[in-house]
Amino acid sequence: MTRPPIRLTQFGLVNTYLVPEADGFTLIDAGLPGLERRVLNTVRSTGRPLKRIALTHAHDDHIGAVDALLAAQPDLELLVGAGDVPLLAARGCKATPTRTLRGGDRVGSLTVIDTPGHSPGHVAFLDERDGTLYAGDTFVNVPDLHVASVLNAVFPLPTLGTSDLLQTTRSARTLLDVPARTLAVGHGRPIADPLAHMRRAVEQAESEREPAPMTRTVARLVARLTGMGSAVAVVGKNAAAKSTHD
Ligand SMILES: [Zn+2]
Repeated sequence: MTRPPIRLTQFGLVNTYLVPEADGFTLIDAGLPGLERRVLNTVRSTGRPLKRIALTHAHDDHIGAVDALLAAQPDLELLVGAGDVPLLAARGCKATPTRTLRGGDRVGSLTVIDTPGHSPGHVAFLDERDGTLYAGDTFVNVPDLHVASVLNAVFPLPTLGTSDLLQTTRSARTLLDVPARTLAVGHGRPIADPLAHMRRAVEQAESEREPAPMTRTVARLVARLTGMGSAVAVVGKNAAAKSTHD
């Protein structure tokens, strides 16, 4: 029997996972800045070493503790999807990946699954030992499970930060073929026996041609407040594929 993974959550919204391996832990995603202390304390309390950081993608809320963890422990491996290497540097991360990931690669007990869309090099990880699918931000479970391409008025940021909405929906559909027993998302609670929920979320994403007027208004407001104007252009592009934007 392997030990269960450890979920660390910041502000009740941002998840990272410590996945036990024979040689120590793999940290999936590195949260917001400041997470490093909790990671190091948690790992220390187990008496087993942290071996590597494997990123689902290189957005700010998933890379926050990367540099601090590498400063504390320079021998850590850093793994990221090949398509997100430029993004990692662009977001100000000083660390250089020790390995880049593509679909089918192995990271300890984890199998890498290409899921581009939320970011160009977004990946998911399947742990075949316990059937946990670490899906990053392709699916979001705040307040309910939805694909990141579907704007949610309560928690719109993952949608506003998505680089390709249609590709995100396509990647979400490919994850329906994965024999997941638990879905572990970047935002929100993990879901047991998730396939029916995932299927409903994908069907909702595929049926949505246009976000409801209210969610579009909220998206514009949030975009103005957060300076994410370009993301709103992407939302608009998804809503009306033939319309042009600047
Ligand atoms: Zn995120």
